[in-house]
Amino acid sequence: MTEPVTTLRGIGPKQAARLEKLGIHTLTDLLFHLPLRYQDRTRLLPIGGLRPGDEAVVEGEIALAEVQSRSRRMLILRLADGTGALNLRFFHFSAAQQHNLVRGVRLRCFGEVRGSRQGGLEMIHPEYRAIQDDTLPVEDCLTPVYPTTEGLHQITLRRLTDEALAHLDHLPDWLPPGVLDSAGLPDLESALRTVHRPPPDVSVAALLAGRHPAQRRLAFEELVAHHLSLYRLRTRTTARPAPVIRVDGNLLGRLRRSLPFALTSAQDRVIRELERDMARPSPMLRLVQGDVGSGKTLVAVAACLQAVEAGHQAAVMAPTEILAEQHHHNFRALLGPLDIPVAWFSGRQGVRARRESLAALAEGTARVAVGTHALFQDEVSFEDLALVIVDEQHRFGVHQRMALREKGARDGRLPHQLIMTATPIPRTLAMTAYADLDYSVIDELPPGRTPVKTVAVSDTRRGEVVERIHHAISQGRQAYWVCTLIEESEVLQAQAAEDTHALLQAALTGVRVGLVHGRMKPREKEAMMAAFKAGELQLLVATTVIEVGVDVPNASLMIIENAERLGLAQLHQLRGRVGRGTAESACVLLYHPPLSYTAQRRLEALRASTDGFEIARIDLELRGPGEVLGTRQTGMMQFRIAEITRDQDLLETVKAAATRLMREHPDHVEPLIRRWLSGSEEYGRVG
Ligand code: ADP
Ligand code: MG
Repeated sequence: MTEPVTTLRGIGPKQAARLEKLGIHTLTDLLFHLPLRYQDRTRLLPIGGLRPGDEAVVEGEIALAEVQSRSRRMLILRLADGTGALNLRFFHFSAAQQHNLVRGVRLRCFGEVRGSRQGGLEMIHPEYRAIQDDTLPVEDCLTPVYPTTEGLHQITLRRLTDEALAHLDHLPDWLPPGVLDSAGLPDLESALRTVHRPPPDVSVAALLAGRHPAQRRLAFEELVAHHLSLYRLRTRTTARPAPVIRVDGNLLGRLRRSLPFALTSAQDRVIRELERDMARPSPMLRLVQGDVGSGKTLVAVAACLQAVEAGHQAAVMAPTEILAEQHHHNFRALLGPLDIPVAWFSGRQGVRARRESLAALAEGTARVAVGTHALFQDEVSFEDLALVIVDEQHRFGVHQRMALREKGARDGRLPHQLIMTATPIPRTLAMTAYADLDYSVIDELPPGRTPVKTVAVSDTRRGEVVERIHHAISQGRQAYWVCTLIEESEVLQAQAAEDTHALLQAALTGVRVGLVHGRMKPREKEAMMAAFKAGELQLLVATTVIEVGVDVPNASLMIIENAERLGLAQLHQLRGRVGRGTAESACVLLYHPPLSYTAQRRLEALRASTDGFEIARIDLELRGPGEVLGTRQTGMMQFRIAEITRDQDLLETVKAAATRLMREHPDHVEPLIRRWLSGSEEYGRVG
């Protein structure tokens, strides 16, 4: 089954190139190129029973044929079968068609039914066939519709899969019967046959919902393969040595004493977990999740201190300039008094500053490095890196994580790794996406926080909102105004923020209004933030650059413009910028009516809850896991057939099956991973 597709009839270089685009190189690939959906052409449906949205085969006689030329020339046929009639509409037609398709001719058609503007039902450009006698058979299985690409027809894909299916008995089933039976799933051969050519008695509803046992069997196999690949990554990593970090904790003690508050018990617990991990001779691989404001920074600093006290270096990496800057600022403030020098790396820093940072790191005068992905670059080298911290991991791909991990590799030794994320991940999802990581949660907010009161307000009431800002400021509070635009363009976003800034400044006389956006120089941004933090500015107009990391406890009001355009997770993150002090805080979600159904659900979810987990649960429901994890771009959670939300109930069994496979059939692991993940660069390159 590993023969190239070119061994099949009629597949020349041109078709092969198209198939390649779909990731199909071999016969096996064809078998795992699964239908997107199905058409039911196994039954003739009475026209009288059709409803808009149906895809149906109908048969009838042309009762009326005419060419209309109102706005556009078109051929309209009225097809009747005794139960009802519908129109067939053709915008492109030849003289021959016009000649042949006349009153009295019998047609068999397949197409999508829709309501026509004139009332009644119609099909636009249906597939059709004229019939002489009544013996034309219907299809004997559901018709698969495959994902395809320009120039490659469904008919071709159906023919090719037919041929591949003929060789199916050569395909090994890597899942042993014991595993399948306990999960109640069919063997590979029958699963593939059913999925490609479902017999007419199959439940179409189950197939379309992806819940048929044949599909579940394949989803299961894919999830097992995915799990195994992450697990293999993990074992390859943990098999390597790492610096054993075991210290008295003097530095951490000094840090604790310098803080005006005590750590929460959740912070303490997670710090202990990290200490335990780093005291082992194999690399720590741990994900720490904590809701916005739960105090992840201090946990990261604590881990750094352990490494530094043991005489090593630590690196902290963040996905955006502004978040990295914020970390740099915080780390310097916390580590400076302990005489621990911090080096800064950014893609935007000047040559000289960069050269200094590089030297400080390589010589070891700097003990901690903070930066963006600029830290990945080849010329960055450490004297003795023992701990890598990645904030907001979901924005980095697996291989980027690996790259930084390798930076600390010395004599085969790997640094410990800590990943921090504010995205609350439901447990099942975490188990799947981060099967290579241990998992800790900071499940407690520091005391004294007042929950943010959230309201959704139509932007027709903007005047009242401005009034509200005025009031908050007159009470000595500060406020954010967040401008959002869907356009990716930084220029347009900056423009919108500048316009809003001018409008608000005009509307709020006597109020000092600041502005930050992505087009400003880092130094300007930093100065603006510092002024806001110091209370010199009362209102800060910002683009979503402030999404993460900004920390001004006196800011108690946030207005988010066009809130309906943002995702739940992002709104929750933004809102987390207020409610950090003891004052009653509020968030106003300004929206532009009318709201779509999902936008309504999003805003409602935010109004109803400030709990990141609850919000993540709804987010997952509304958007699906790829988006929630932000991994669509990195391709990490792209499955061919599995869908985490739909197949959640399989996940526990997946883990057990993977474990059993490793133990009882270690020789199946590699081919199984290759079958499902070979096309994925991410996994191909790693390890
Ligand atoms: P996040 O988890 O969102 O990154 P931060 O680490 O930025 O949260 O912390 C948010 C705010 O809470 C900061 O101002 C920080 O100083 C403060 N903070 C952290 N831990 C505690 C604590 N145990 N008690 C009181 N305030 C805390
Ligand atoms: Mg943070």
